[in-house]
Amino acid sequence: MPSKYAITFFLGFFVCSFLQASDFNGLEQSLKVLIVGAGPAGLSVAKALQNRGVYPDIIEKQACIIFDGAGFAVPANGSWALEKLGIDITEKALVISQMQFTDDQGSLLAKDRVDTIHPDGAQFYSLTRNELMDSLLASLHKDTHIQTSTTITHFSEENDQVKVVFSDGRIKYYDFVIGCDGVRSTLRSKVHPEELPEFLGLFVWRAIVNTTLDLAMPTYMVGADRGVLLYPMLNNKIYVYGHIFQKVKDSDMGSFSKEFSSFGGDVPEVIDAIESEQTKFHHCHLYKSHSVRFTLDGFTRVLLMGDASHACGPMLQNGAAQSFEDAYVLQDLLSDKLTKEEIPPLIEAFKKRRLSRVEKVYMMSNAKIQAISDPMQIAGRNEAIRREGPPNVNAFKILMQGNP
Ligand SMILES: Cc1cc2nc3c(=O)[nH]c(=O)nc-3n(C[C@H](O)[C@H](O)[C@H](O)COP(=O)(O)OP(=O)(O)OC[C@H]3O[C@@H](n4cnc5c(N)ncnc54)[C@H](O)[C@@H]3O)c2cc1C
Repeated sequence: MPSKYAITFFLGFFVCSFLQASDFNGLEQSLKVLIVGAGPAGLSVAKALQNRGVYPDIIEKQACIIFDGAGFAVPANGSWALEKLGIDITEKALVISQMQFTDDQGSLLAKDRVDTIHPDGAQFYSLTRNELMDSLLASLHKDTHIQTSTTITHFSEENDQVKVVFSDGRIKYYDFVIGCDGVRSTLRSKVHPEELPEFLGLFVWRAIVNTTLDLAMPTYMVGADRGVLLYPMLNNKIYVYGHIFQKVKDSDMGSFSKEFSSFGGDVPEVIDAIESEQTKFHHCHLYKSHSVRFTLDGFTRVLLMGDASHACGPMLQNGAAQSFEDAYVLQDLLSDKLTKEEIPPLIEAFKKRRLSRVEKVYMMSNAKIQAISDPMQIAGRNEAIRREGPPNVNAFKILMQGNP
């Protein structure tokens, strides 16, 4: 076995792992598994495999595992799956018990509890994305290394194995390859180049703001063509999210403070804090997957998970939560003595168990975020929210009637 070393720096917002070029996972394995991508999906799937005694190779195309410093909401189905995987976020996170919708001036439209929705009592949480990624990384075996600055240039199935050519020219053979490489998945686009990610019609700002504002619960503020979400977190922090509906993609947008200056309620106080702290926002256009896809045509040993399979809008905060469900279901289907012959039927069983639930989340997330923001769809919107309650909570109640 080649000698190996790993140096991991925890520098707040990113982790860099340096490994010798020839080195992947140093553990002897009868089953060879590769995970492509070290985001929330790749790391939680690695933990699921590890829980069944399988230690995968993991590659990440970036030089570091970069955390974007924004906030993160974990709905109860996500925290349930994390708990089943043995990943603990509870000490770093705030429990959320209610949510409310207001108009853009802060007048209440509807409010509902979320702490009694989940059938097993799982809770909703908020935390920073950094803390979530730290928890995922900390759950992995000390000998599980992530080969950074590495991607796949070619892959094919030959003689019951997947032949993988890496970006540094090395070639390895695997029994099972799991694509967790995000909404712009290389694995997916190499086999299905026509399935490009689709613009969701939204431009988004996100940041964590330090403020003494006493925000009792997550507050969704809906305007004519834009919305703000203020999400309480631990330690006098608020996760601030804003979006604007765009029929045609436009990057020439002002700052959060400028674009949401007409909002009332708690927004003026939040903008004061943003301005005095000179808070830096992340902004981007939002995309969804072309469709839900777990398998690649012509491949029996490659499985897509997380955003590579089913990226969706953030209305139900279920992007990563669905990745955690994917990881849990894989763990549940894996036997402790998995053989390479069992991989193709395992992939089929996974797809059968996941497809309808994931398609429901994908459809509800995308439809609801459009309906609350698209000026063409908002006639009577506030009245409907008053009458029927918070649309996201109503969807949570449907989703959480059962576990994955
Ligand atoms: C504005 C916004 C807010 C959101 N809020 C929430 C929320 O509150 N709660 C929630 O559950 N979800 C939320 N989501 C969704 C969530 O961020 C994603 O669903 C989640 O990050 C998906 O994880 P992933 O690992 O599948 O993909 P990613 O997070 O995209 O990670 C993919 C990883 O693979 C790497 N990679 C890509 N291509 C390659 C390659 N070819 N080779 C090697 N590595 C590769 C990337 O560098 C990256 O590290 C939000 C999304 C957005 C845009």
